[in-house]
Parts: sequence; structure tokens; C-alpha cells
Amino acid sequence: MSYRCVIFDLFETLADFNRDRLPLIHINGEPIHSTTAVVYPLFVERYSQVSLKTFYYAFRESFDEAARLREREEREVSAYERFHLFFQKLEIPVTPDVEPFLAALLEKHMACVAEVIYTPPEHCELLEWLRPKYQLGLISNFDHGPTARAILARAGINSLFDLILISDEVGYRKPHPAIFEAACQALRITPVEAIFIGDSPAVDIAGAKGVGMAAIWLNRTGERLDESIPRPEYTVRCLEEIKEILE
Ligand SMILES: [Mg+2]
Repeated sequence: MSYRCVIFDLFETLADFNRDRLPLIHINGEPIHSTTAVVYPLFVERYSQVSLKTFYYAFRESFDEAARLREREEREVSAYERFHLFFQKLEIPVTPDVEPFLAALLEKHMACVAEVIYTPPEHCELLEWLRPKYQLGLISNFDHGPTARAILARAGINSLFDLILISDEVGYRKPHPAIFEAACQALRITPVEAIFIGDSPAVDIAGAKGVGMAAIWLNRTGERLDESIPRPEYTVRCLEEIKEILE
């Protein structure tokens, strides 16, 4: 089968999120890597009554709650919405005069996240190699579109894609068919004309196969594929291996 379009996942596929490079805080004497290290100092300027520990637990709970909402409602919960949940947990009403402060905290958090994301140069070269042969797309589950786009721009790869879809901007997350269908529509292709590459069986492989799109599973650690996941057309150990499949 020859494909017209190659569509990539972003995190842990094209770019790596290095959580252990996030700055450190200590909670109950335990070292924890968290953006709290940069967000809390700004927060406490306005709400000095809230301790680091209270902040951290509410921050983490809001993250977990956003994850539960995403699962239950099959939609993206934006970072902005997540920060509202966070303020709710701290019992701070988000009145209009609080909104700009909340936005400033979100910006600090996202800048810190973006700093620990690394796109290897080999991946940029791979995209350059594919570019003359295929339409290129990207579908990412991420709760803040501008940050995902800034990460791509910083790696110098944003202009290589014919289409970039971030779940924050679409409202749906992979594996929901709507985000894959939106990509096909924008690229003016049918799903069988595209092949999707991603690291997550439940999100990327099940999602692509669910709309009739072929899939390549990036399985870096040699995991076994769960029985419940449709079989991908190919499995690779590193991204460069897709050259053999797509040449
Ligand atoms: Mg991924």
C-alpha cells in the first residue's frame, strides 16, 4: 500500500518530555520534580496564606481531576480549565480581576514544561526526508495549543507540516475518531490514504485503526501489545526505522 500522507504524534514520538529535568521541590522531605517550583513563587505573592504543600496537593489533584474528566467525557480539558479546577480546590473564587493572574500562572507553568521538551535533530532530518514524498500531519493530545505550537517552532519543524492539530484547539482527544476525521478532512484525504505513527497503543494505534487508517507503533522499550488493541501494520523500535517502510 502506498500512502499519500504521514501523520505523527508529538509527545514521546517526535519530542521527548523529560520530567526529571523539571525543577525540584521538597514535600514532606521528599524531592519532587514539578513546575510548582516556578509557579508557586508567583502565586504566593498574591496568596501568602497558602503553603507550598497545600499548593502542590491542590495542583496535583487538579491535574488528576482533569485526567478523569478527559477520560469520562472523551474530550480535551484545556490547561486553562485545569487551572480553574486548581483554584476551586484552593477555594479561591475566580473573579474577573483574578483571571489575568491565573493566566500569568498558566504561562509560567507552560514555559517550564516547554523547557524540558527535547526534539532530537534526527527527527527533524527525518521530517525533511519525508517532506518531498508525502503530505505531513501532526495530531497531538495536549491541553495548551500555543505551547505545543511553540515547541514545534523552536525545533524548527512547524513549517514542515501541512496540518497541525492540537486537541486543545479541536476539543476532542485521540483516540476519539473526530480528531482523526478532522485531520483527513483538512488534508483532503480519506483515512486509508494516511499512515499514523505514535507511541501509545490505546491512544494512537487504536485511534488511527478505529477510523480505518494504517498505523506504525513506535515501541521503544519492546512492550507487548495488549490483546484489546487492533494490530498496527508495523512496529518500530526507533523513529528512523520508518524510513525503510516509507521509502
Ligand atoms: Mg505520544
